[in-house]
Amino acid sequence: MTALYAVFGNPIAHSRSPRIHALFAQQTGVSLRYEARLAPIDGLDAALDAFHDEGGCGANITVPFKFDAWRLCSRRSPAAQLAQAVNTIGWDEGGLWGDNTDGIGLIRDLARVLAADAHTPLQGQRLLLLGAGGAASGVLGPLITAGTRVIALWNRSADKAQALAARHSALAMQHGVDLQVVQGPPSRWADGVINATSASLGGSSLDLPEGVLHAGNWAYDMMYGAHDTPFVAQARAAGARAWDGLGMLVEQAAQSYTLWHGEAPDTAPVLATLRAEITASAT
Ligand code: NDP
Repeated sequence: MTALYAVFGNPIAHSRSPRIHALFAQQTGVSLRYEARLAPIDGLDAALDAFHDEGGCGANITVPFKFDAWRLCSRRSPAAQLAQAVNTIGWDEGGLWGDNTDGIGLIRDLARVLAADAHTPLQGQRLLLLGAGGAASGVLGPLITAGTRVIALWNRSADKAQALAARHSALAMQHGVDLQVVQGPPSRWADGVINATSASLGGSSLDLPEGVLHAGNWAYDMMYGAHDTPFVAQARAAGARAWDGLGMLVEQAAQSYTLWHGEAPDTAPVLATLRAEITASAT
């Protein structure tokens, strides 16, 4: 029987997840259907129940439902528990379980782009993480355990950055990482700047002080698109080396796929196909 999977978000029409999972399924010979589903802003719970009644086996959860999904799960992985955000769910005899694969996705893609750039590895770096929503929550723990030296958190709503840092302070101490919350993004300080805000999704660039992005550092936008995202364009204009989050999208999807099907797909050809398709769709 064809197994049913989906991604739930609002909005959701832009999602590339159905295409990525179709490519993984083709590659590994698994029979599945994976759909993009729009859930009402206050209605993730009912939407997931209806999906499960239809035969849904698992789902990805995207903006703005990752915190709601975390609350709904009866069991959560350590990564999801630390993040208090869930992007991958599934049902088994114990009910609804949740995990968070965003962090693994980011770390794997950062390792790829930094290695290709012949730049210093993530280990020992000073990072500035912009944002404190579901995506930032999912990646902070894995960034701490990846061997970074200092991580500064900045968010438009400072209280959310404080809460995120407080939740990760014990982990940071255990790994010798200096975790700070900053009131404004510091200039000429970070080796790398990661944009986990949804500003690019709305088409706007971030109002960053001069020198946050410069010729001596790198920048990574979790958002992606056919053209440079506003943040990638902003970083390149300042002279920084910059990448978008398409690789992270493929890597976090691969980890979800592995959780559901017990088989790890080869991400490189899928990323190449997706990049070509996205570029072609814009011409
Ligand atoms: P959330 O809605 O949970 O959080 C949004 C964050 O962006 C908040 O910190 C919010 O600040 C901030 N923000 C929104 N607009 C602005 C703005 N104009 N200026 C400054 N800050 C702003 O979203 P997620 O965290 O789930 O997603 C964030 C982004 O990451 C999205 O673009 C999403 O597509 C992308 N993403 C990509 C992934 C990938 O695999 N490539 C995986 C996961 C996410 P405040 O708290 O003040 O509201």
